[in-house]
Amino acid sequence: MNTKIIQINRENFTDAELAEAAEILRNGGLVAIPTETVYGLGANALDESASKKIYEAKGRPSDNPLIAHISCMDELSALVSEIPEAGRKLAEKYWPGPLTMVFPKKEIVPYGTTGGLETVAIRMPSDPVANRLIKLAGVPVAAPSANTSGRPSPTKAEHVVEDMNGKIEMIIDSGEVGIGVESTIVDVSGKVPMLLRPGAITMEMLRETLGEVEIDPAILGPLSADVKPKAPGMKYRHYAPQAEMTLVEGEMEHVVEFINQEAKLALEAGLKVGIICTEESRESYQCGMLKVIGSRENEESVAHNLFAVLREFDDQKVDCIFSESFSKDRLGQAIMNRLCKAAGYHIVKV
Ligand code: AMP
Ligand code: MG
Repeated sequence: MNTKIIQINRENFTDAELAEAAEILRNGGLVAIPTETVYGLGANALDESASKKIYEAKGRPSDNPLIAHISCMDELSALVSEIPEAGRKLAEKYWPGPLTMVFPKKEIVPYGTTGGLETVAIRMPSDPVANRLIKLAGVPVAAPSANTSGRPSPTKAEHVVEDMNGKIEMIIDSGEVGIGVESTIVDVSGKVPMLLRPGAITMEMLRETLGEVEIDPAILGPLSADVKPKAPGMKYRHYAPQAEMTLVEGEMEHVVEFINQEAKLALEAGLKVGIICTEESRESYQCGMLKVIGSRENEESVAHNLFAVLREFDDQKVDCIFSESFSKDRLGQAIMNRLCKAAGYHIVKV
């Protein structure tokens, strides 16, 4: 398939520029779209055969449910059988934005989109291109991250081209995304709201709006074989670079010392070594290929660069990666969740 790539300036575009993309979505095709979190791979969420194409293009297991994207509040009630109080409050405060909520689904939403679940995950993106495209398509848009399943999520159109060129009808290139990690997911279908995936809407923000919020154990560490994950997607390996990655936790001084030591050993063994450091620590490393993930003073910068850094190490074909770790407060919870998964929970405490 020939993939058409179009450039859209998110600050200044017309409906006419999005007309073809909207048409493709309505007709059951696939369009990669920029959003404020990461690039998404869009298809008509109400068309089971269109959702199926997403799974094929990504190589995604079919029990891993998709998030349906809407453009405004009026589009919600067609998809969900109930809007619980917690969902109403969060929608008022954080939609449009990087928050996904899980609701009981209406019959119209096919199991092919929800991975066989009776619930549906819904998000209203704030990115002007994504939001307008959904409106113009006139259908809810299922859109998981536009990467090959298991690879780091795409934060630039080039990443999408790498993974999806030739597999989908169109890629909309609007440059880099803003946030860089996927949306926060909260299940509001049960008695107590439950955080299923941390993101830019932090646990602190959710608790401020809702009071009690539970955390799914899958966020905090690897699931043991006998635990059935709440969201099927949680059981899969994610965001992984090709290299073996080690996340190093502890006081900075010890972390730097450990990484320098291990990097030297690995180099002596003939391996190509990558190091994920910060603006603050970049001068402290003596060998290996350094990549600055951001500044500790600005956790948004770390989230923004995280997946791009993992992809760059893939491009450089490094054999092993050592990464510093971060506080798990606020946005740090999302950052550490992605880094832990990328490292396959290979964490060393020093
Ligand atoms: P993404 O990989 O960004 O497309 O996000 C999809 C993730 O959303 C899945 O892997 C699940 O973790 C979660 N999800 C989607 N739908 C549901 C649902 N109905 N119930 C629980 N989690 C869901
Ligand atoms: Mg994804």
